[in-house]
Amino acid sequence: MIPKLVIANWKMAIDRASVSQFLNEWEASHIPSDVTALIAPPALFLSDIKDITGAALCAQDVSAHELGAHTGEISAQMLSEFNCSHGLVGHSERRLAWNESNALVAAKARRLEASGICPVICVGESKDVRDSGDAESVVAKQVLASAEGLVSAPVIAYEPIWAIGSGEAATPKIADSMHAAIKAALSARFDEPTSVLYGGSVNEANAGDFLACESIDGLLVGGASLKAASFTNICQSVGDRR
Ligand code: PEP
Repeated sequence: MIPKLVIANWKMAIDRASVSQFLNEWEASHIPSDVTALIAPPALFLSDIKDITGAALCAQDVSAHELGAHTGEISAQMLSEFNCSHGLVGHSERRLAWNESNALVAAKARRLEASGICPVICVGESKDVRDSGDAESVVAKQVLASAEGLVSAPVIAYEPIWAIGSGEAATPKIADSMHAAIKAALSARFDEPTSVLYGGSVNEANAGDFLACESIDGLLVGGASLKAASFTNICQSVGDRR
C-alpha cells in the first residue's frame, strides 16, 4: 500500500516555545506505517525540528532564484541543506497576498526539483468559481501552468480557497471528483502517477473520511496540525480507511 502523505503546515502561526512543546508531546511511534508525516515549520525553526523522528521536513515556500542578492529569500539549496524532502509552493495565501502567478509558482517548483526536493504545488478555486460550476476546468489549467517545465510529476495539494481556515471543509465527494480531474490533466504530461492531497479545514473528525477515498493520497493540514496530539490523531485516522 502506498503510504498517505500527511503534511502539517504551521504557517506563521507558531512560536518557538510551542515548537518545543510540540516536540515534547510528539510520539513518532504512534504514526502508522502507511502514513508519511511531514512538518512544514516556519523556515527559522527548521533547525529546531531537524532531529524529529517519524516525520520528514517540508519547506513552506522557496525563492524562484538560485542564489545571489535577494534579501530575505531562502533558496532551494539552503532548504536541501536542512534536509527538506518536500517544499510547498503556490499556497493560496501567497498567490493572493503576494500576487504569485502560475509562472512564478512553476519557477519555484523547478528550483525545488533541481535541488532534489519534491515540490508540493497548492491549487484551488475561489467560492465564485466553485459556484459557477467551472471549478474543475479552472483548477486543471492552474495545475498544468504551475507544473510547467518540471521533469517529474509533482505532488499536488488541492485546497479550495473557501475551505482554508474557514471550518467549512469540502466534502470528500467534491475532493474525490477534483482529484480525478487533476490526475487526468497531469496524466497527459507525466509518465508517473501524481499524488494529490486534500487541504482545507481538515480536523480530527473529518480526516478519516478524506483518507478513505482512493483518489485522496494524503492531507495538507493547517490549524489542526499545531498541536502534536491533534496532528497525531489525524495521521492515525488513516486506519479508518481499512
Ligand atoms: C492550509 O492553509 O494549508 C490549510 C489547509 O489550513 P486549514 O487546515 O487551517 O484550513
